[in-house]
Amino acid sequence: MSRKKIFWCKNCLNMSTRPRITFDERGWCNACQWMEEKRVMDWNVREKELIKLLNKHRSKNGNFDCIVPVSGGKDGSYVAYQLKHKYGMNPLTVTVRPALSLEIGNKNLENFIRSGYNHIHISCNPIVLDRLNKYGFIEKGFPYYGWLIAIMTAVIKTAANFKIPLIFYGEDGEIEYGGSTETKNKALYDIEYMKRIYLEGGHEKVFERIQTDGDISEADLAFFKFPTDDEISEVGLSFTHWSYFEAWDSYRNYIIAKEYCGLIEKEDGNHDTFTNFAQNDQALYALHAYMMYLKFGFGRATQDAGIEIRRGSMTRDQALNLVKMYDNAYPYDLIDTYLEYYNMTKEEFDAVLDRYANKDLFEKIDGVWQPKFVVGEDFYI
Ligand SMILES: [Zn+2]
Repeated sequence: MSRKKIFWCKNCLNMSTRPRITFDERGWCNACQWMEEKRVMDWNVREKELIKLLNKHRSKNGNFDCIVPVSGGKDGSYVAYQLKHKYGMNPLTVTVRPALSLEIGNKNLENFIRSGYNHIHISCNPIVLDRLNKYGFIEKGFPYYGWLIAIMTAVIKTAANFKIPLIFYGEDGEIEYGGSTETKNKALYDIEYMKRIYLEGGHEKVFERIQTDGDISEADLAFFKFPTDDEISEVGLSFTHWSYFEAWDSYRNYIIAKEYCGLIEKEDGNHDTFTNFAQNDQALYALHAYMMYLKFGFGRATQDAGIEIRRGSMTRDQALNLVKMYDNAYPYDLIDTYLEYYNMTKEEFDAVLDRYANKDLFEKIDGVWQPKFVVGEDFYI
């Protein structure tokens, strides 16, 4: 019987279980290889490409000329700030309201808007959103599946309705954090790529599954569906990532957002990681990160540590300690919130976790999944 080797990036702590990730002969992951490339790349060439793209779309009559999805967090705020103040664009910023939004996230969003942006706050029908989230949690192991759909579909719908052809997302997570490299040298994507990579295809089939006696109509689903191909081609819709045009640096984004967009930090640390300036907008994020840990063996601390290592502010050894300390974070402090939101008992909730825990990587001890592996040490399954 052949056994499969589980290993960690020799530079950061990205794990070989990460979907679509690749490693080179040194054992460095594609995010770390990209970090090296970023340092030597001629970004002037890409900035010229950006300016050309912006000039093509720049509005001459005061209309919006691009859309930037924002949450009030550092990254969207930074992109909107650059587009508006450095490049003189007229961005429409858009937020899809998550379920269980957190006070600090709401405050940051308000501060961002007040720093001078046009903004649309989209509230998708919460009955549909909540059902999709619950369905996604149970059937796919994605605790905010409905929101994940809507941050694409509702934003694209808005773009089509306002006839704004260009959508700017922040970083390309596949390139920056590890995953598919197919878009590394590609500025613009179409909606098909989005469906394939981010929704893993076929999300519309789910709508039938969340029906109770046909109580959800087509109209209720409006924000959860992509516009038709005709509507998309009429506007000529495409989307892009800011990280294609400028070396992505989330710490720089944080500094700019703090200085110019009113970003405030969370006072106590997040319980599942050591940083205090990321992903503060919704309570379900901690569960999302924990389920990622159970499925693949790495959590939020691994991701955050990878960012720090790649920007040269943390050694791999320091990261190892933090990851061991923080990655395995059963969401004790939010459990009551989750049970109430999903309308589940603790037993039902834990049964969902059991379903997604990777039994090759974890074993259950005293009711909680514990890793069989030691972070950073090759492991065979
Ligand atoms: Zn790496």
